[in-house]
Amino acid sequence: MSVSDLTAVVTGAGSTRGIGRATAHALAAAGWNVAILDLDEASAKDAAHDVSQRSDAQAWGLGCDVTDEASVEAALAVLAGTGTPPVGALVNNAGITSPTPFLEVSGAEWDRIFAVNVRGAYNLTRRVAPGMAERGFGRIVFLSSVSAERGGGVFGGVAYSAAKAAQLGFAKALAREIGASGVTVNSVAPGLIDTDITGGALEGERKDQLVAGIPVGRTGNVSDVADLVTYLCREESGYITGATYDVNGGSHMH
Ligand code: NAD
Repeated sequence: MSVSDLTAVVTGAGSTRGIGRATAHALAAAGWNVAILDLDEASAKDAAHDVSQRSDAQAWGLGCDVTDEASVEAALAVLAGTGTPPVGALVNNAGITSPTPFLEVSGAEWDRIFAVNVRGAYNLTRRVAPGMAERGFGRIVFLSSVSAERGGGVFGGVAYSAAKAAQLGFAKALAREIGASGVTVNSVAPGLIDTDITGGALEGERKDQLVAGIPVGRTGNVSDVADLVTYLCREESGYITGATYDVNGGSHMH
């Protein structure tokens, strides 16, 4: 089986300067067909158009709220109905963050952070993993965060760090459970990457301080993360599972 006969589903890949869109491009360049699911339908379609312009891959862009099971089912049904090749990779990239201090965070905000980062990943993974296991091949990658490993300290608060740490346990337990079916499950833990996830709320002195703590002396580029995700999705990466890969410029070392 070649990746050109398979589809990689990337959630949250609409965002123009985001990790997901860069990952969709990198996967397409590696031969994958790509399905982009994003809350923002127009950006998902734009990303798909962008990917198909720049590669020979087929690309689909669909509006989808990963927190909503019906929305996820509908998006996957549209893909199946358009004759999309089987799903061989899933990149659980859709995510939201929040810097709200724990002593101020509401239950609603806590739930929302978990809904997108954890329940959203469940909603997709639960639906695509059975087909992968049946076909004997699959690659699942979670976009966790250095915040999960070092207890915040970048931008995201306790809710974000807890949700990103939940993804690590999710990935490892699933890797153990479905490893024998040819499906690998890994996490990537980026440090400070230059995207729009902070909504412009991380600038100036605070950002300079953070960069001063990064041994390579800069924020990460989306391509730094996209390349790593694409590597984990290769057919040849089948012996890598249950792993967490740092891509943080040395800002956190184990
Ligand atoms: P981004 O804000 O640029 O992109 C996130 C995308 O997710 C957006 O396109 C948004 O529309 C989509 N999205 C949000 N809620 C959704 C939902 N309910 N359903 C479907 N799509 C939804 O963010 P980014 O910086 O590219 O982050 C991508 C992932 O990487 C996230 O999981 C984030 O937590 C993680 N991450 C980012 C950084 C960083 O520094 N940028 C660091 C560590 C981890």
